[in-house]
Amino acid sequence: MQIHILASGSTGNAVFVQMGQTKVLIDAGISNRRIEKGLGELGIKVSDIDGILITHEHIDHVKGLEVLTRKYKVPVYTRCRTWKNMNCLDKIPPECIKEIENHISLGGLDIIPFNISHDAADPVGYCIYNKNRKIVIATDFGMVTPAIEKALACADFIVLETNHDIDMLKNGPYPQFLKQRISSSKGHLSNRQAGQVLARIPLKAHTQVMLAHLSQQNNYPALAEETVKNILTHSGLTVDKDIILHRTYPQRTASLVV
Ligand SMILES: [Zn+2]
Ligand SMILES: [Zn+2]
Repeated sequence: MQIHILASGSTGNAVFVQMGQTKVLIDAGISNRRIEKGLGELGIKVSDIDGILITHEHIDHVKGLEVLTRKYKVPVYTRCRTWKNMNCLDKIPPECIKEIENHISLGGLDIIPFNISHDAADPVGYCIYNKNRKIVIATDFGMVTPAIEKALACADFIVLETNHDIDMLKNGPYPQFLKQRISSSKGHLSNRQAGQVLARIPLKAHTQVMLAHLSQQNNYPALAEETVKNILTHSGLTVDKDIILHRTYPQRTASLVV
């Protein structure tokens, strides 16, 4: 089982997952060339990918989709309303356009989307199951709902948004409307919210968490990790034993191979 976060943050997101023999990409928010290069460094070709799962239509999640689908004809799955709101829809080859509402089977994987609270048409996170292993992709949401908690429970691997530090956002350079958008219930998750939900949910032993979608203005990897770690430690969990935290980056790959 492998997760490689090729890019993470407001400048673009793309996550490669391999479970068993099945290979999927979650979001294609960086250029096709960067996806080819990032996968190439892992010894993977884009043509090896069984499917692409899109979380929502924001540009930092779909930027590379047009070129990638025209060149490789990979099937792309997302909710119907997300397709309708995607600016590049007309340029995607029709045979690549696939809908996912509640469940698909792809190769040996069961893939179940779950609703998230974000300012997009029908945004989702994904639970990906293979045998008794579970990976959860959960970024781009401003509030933790019961559906999200349920999705995160008892996962082996979680890609979880730690978008901003609340004080850095409050005191930082963004205009007021943008600060409000980010911290709203349909915006992005703070380091503190991420730590609090991890402390609440039922965990498997040695759950691995990749802290993702960091703001470059209002956060940095060491701060996200420290904030989450402090909350987990205060709630009685031992970081590096009960739960293992990993950093991710906007411009370089962060990998987890088990
Ligand atoms: Zn995003
Ligand atoms: Zn978004």
